[in-house]
Amino acid sequence: MTLRARNTPAQITAWVRAAVQGCREQILESPEAFDATPVRWIIDRVLQQSKADLGQRLQPVINATGIILHTNLGRSPMSDKAITAANNAARYTNVELNLESGRRSKRGERLMNLLAQLTGAEDALVVNNCAAATVLVLQAIAAGQEVIVSRGQLVEIGGGFRLPDVFRAAGVTLREVGTTNRTYLQDYENAVNDATGAVIRVHRSNFHLSGFVTEPTIDELVLMERPDSVAVIDDLGSGSMVDLTPYGLDEPNVLESIRAGADLSLFSGDKLFGGPQAGNLVGKTRWIEKLRRSPIMRAMRVDKLTLAALEATAEIHLAGKALTELPTLRMITTTPDTVRNRCESLLTRIEPSSLLAVVPCESQVGGGSIPGSSLPSYALRISGLPPHHLSHNLRHGQIPIQARVSEEAVVLDLRTVSDQELPSLADGINAAIRETHHFANTETAPE
Ligand SMILES: *Cc1c(COP(=O)(O)O)cnc(C)c1O
Repeated sequence: MTLRARNTPAQITAWVRAAVQGCREQILESPEAFDATPVRWIIDRVLQQSKADLGQRLQPVINATGIILHTNLGRSPMSDKAITAANNAARYTNVELNLESGRRSKRGERLMNLLAQLTGAEDALVVNNCAAATVLVLQAIAAGQEVIVSRGQLVEIGGGFRLPDVFRAAGVTLREVGTTNRTYLQDYENAVNDATGAVIRVHRSNFHLSGFVTEPTIDELVLMERPDSVAVIDDLGSGSMVDLTPYGLDEPNVLESIRAGADLSLFSGDKLFGGPQAGNLVGKTRWIEKLRRSPIMRAMRVDKLTLAALEATAEIHLAGKALTELPTLRMITTTPDTVRNRCESLLTRIEPSSLLAVVPCESQVGGGSIPGSSLPSYALRISGLPPHHLSHNLRHGQIPIQARVSEEAVVLDLRTVSDQELPSLADGINAAIRETHHFANTETAPE
């Protein structure tokens, strides 16, 4: 495609202006070092800008990293049903209209019922992400009061979201108890006073404490000695709906949190729930109502696309089809043998022009889920070509391919690639290998 077909005239003009300016500066700075013709230099610069711009446009990417909840690739890919639902809701939709009665309805009411049903909670609420859910809960329940948290759970989640800062922003006083490795129920009970608004348990999503470690379970926290006005909040992060221990993954379960009696349980929509970005809150009506009435709730509400996609995702969970219909859970539960067969099938489609091998590897769940545990998997390993150059070419094909790169090879873990993507993946790999060969040959030709 030409520069003009891909970009607006205004955009091209801005790039040309900047390039002309850059060219002038280069010539003024060191005229003897400037060995191109100015026009050529400017054209090259503009083409570079256009390429950089293209690389930033949102587009489908094939994830061959084996990291299932890949933050840079949008975490959880959505199910076909969720994609269709979001697509259908994009035009006019009855987001606040009951088609039966013809009256105005509460936004997301049906979804809240589904989430409550699914988790066994009394009530539910949805905001933009789990970080927003944390802020909302702290602000609406404990502004001006103290919230008790174990020192071992004062985490930074990523992207600068650090719990002590969040407390401050929500107008809540942090009451830290215990030590980094050991916190007892007694520590929490001793810290409760007239100013206490809540107790929060935060899942250590992205790191692991092991060895001489103790902390109360959510069941114990719920049973602790405290006034009725002190809420027990469970920030689960990923929050699994299904028991993933048969797959070697031990992640806090939302249903168990609610069964234990947590007043509010928080979890992301786009981690193990397998849906769009959202912060799901489930728990006791008494507390959820308080959140609903908070003035900042309006600033955190989700749009109709998210509501539609979440509704479809919740229905899949309710139908008991999460492991087969939600891509995230399907990828987690795929057996290594299935991935190996996929690798063998891919191998037959690759022109044997470099060193190819199907090798065992380890996939990661990612997204701040289940740190330290990995899933045995298989990958296609491409060696004998400069790996960084090959991976660059993989990212710049018709459909960009993101792979893993090591010192000596490019590794494509097919746990995160669907069977439907295999033909495009093969085309992309063949093209990238050809291009890398071509480059290698022209580079070394003079020798
Ligand atoms: C991931 C995570 C969050 C933030 O969730 P987002 O949906 O990314 O905002 C909050 N708390 C915990 C424990 C998490 O793991």
